[in-house]
Amino acid sequence: MHTQQSQVPFVDLGAQYHTISGEITEAVSKVLRESDFILGREVSLFEEEFASFCEAKWAIGVDSGTSALELALRAYEIGPGDEVITAANSFIASALAISHAGATPVLVDVDADTYTIDVAAIEKAITPRTKAIIPVHLYGHPADMDAIAQLAQRHGLVVIEDACQAHGARYKGKRTGSLGHAAAFSFYPGKNLGAYGDGGAVVTSDHAFAKRLEMLRNYGQKEKYQHMFRGYNRRLDTLQAAVLRIKLKYLEEWNEARRQHAKTYCRLLEQIGVVVPRAATTSESVWHLYVIRIDQRDALKEHLTTRGIGVGIHYPIPIHLQPAYRDLGYRPGDFPVTEDYARRILSLPMYAELTPEIIGRVAETLSEFGITKQTPATWSMPLQPSVYPAG
Ligand SMILES: *Cc1c(COP(=O)(O)O)cnc(C)c1O
Repeated sequence: MHTQQSQVPFVDLGAQYHTISGEITEAVSKVLRESDFILGREVSLFEEEFASFCEAKWAIGVDSGTSALELALRAYEIGPGDEVITAANSFIASALAISHAGATPVLVDVDADTYTIDVAAIEKAITPRTKAIIPVHLYGHPADMDAIAQLAQRHGLVVIEDACQAHGARYKGKRTGSLGHAAAFSFYPGKNLGAYGDGGAVVTSDHAFAKRLEMLRNYGQKEKYQHMFRGYNRRLDTLQAAVLRIKLKYLEEWNEARRQHAKTYCRLLEQIGVVVPRAATTSESVWHLYVIRIDQRDALKEHLTTRGIGVGIHYPIPIHLQPAYRDLGYRPGDFPVTEDYARRILSLPMYAELTPEIIGRVAETLSEFGITKQTPATWSMPLQPSVYPAG
């Protein structure tokens, strides 16, 4: 029997808090002392700093990533009668935001290598009603944005990045948040940049759009009690902005740690026959999730869980097969890559505070499972070597 060892959680928010608790206490106390709770100074400072981090002109703080996507669609006046294309393999919020804006989500399959939206499939899904594309930078890996931008330009479509899992990732050297007309970020606690509650931001370099968004999130208000249109109450809290300002200073360092952990995982796991994730040569992933593929997924999940290793599945039921979207009329078989992967993907523990020892333990526990012959991976695009050069 395996020896009794400490648990390896899937994420460990406490470990990160431990490293910054003094700064956090101070920042939070300051907001409390000043009672500057709504659209306070920390919000505008965070917005400036986050826009600059994304190499874009404006960031507008909102109450969640889902709101960021929905308000971005609304600011572009996308709504009833319009279609918006997004990936079938994403968190449900990518589609919910489209529905909440009143538009219809049109789902397409993902690329078998990078798990991001399949650009050829987008082109086939475009109709005269299509208004926008929401590519998802899934697991922290940017979608193929140049190809998407070309397609969008040809068809006159808006591109809104779903960057909720990809704070700080790069595509051809450029930051997520600067790759489309606008981008939506989530600061849900488990994201690479996470608040201590819900939060989100819309990032853009389009001035008129930014101004409209600022009003949309704040009752459509231009000046106090002057309402230009029927807006919402969807603001980022000052307390969360204060927390995010502290954490943003460490984000590059934390993302770099994730990158190193991904290398360590790849090196150890490929030796034992696991299909490991790989990044396109165009992209620098921030490894929000480290997702392997394995045919005996459910048995392996059980094996790891019973030995104290936290794992996840992102996502077990594709959006088009969710009860919430039955009315869209999709069927099993519509998106073969997404459906195949839903049965074979497994997310291993991934957070900056992991250590090579912990990763070694995860890999060892995986090897004890006795991985048998796997469905071979088929690589169709230039990818970075799975085992990265040392260092
Ligand atoms: C987390 C997430 C969202 C939604 O963000 P919330 O802040 O939870 O509303 C949207 N899209 C993707 C891909 C996400 O991972």
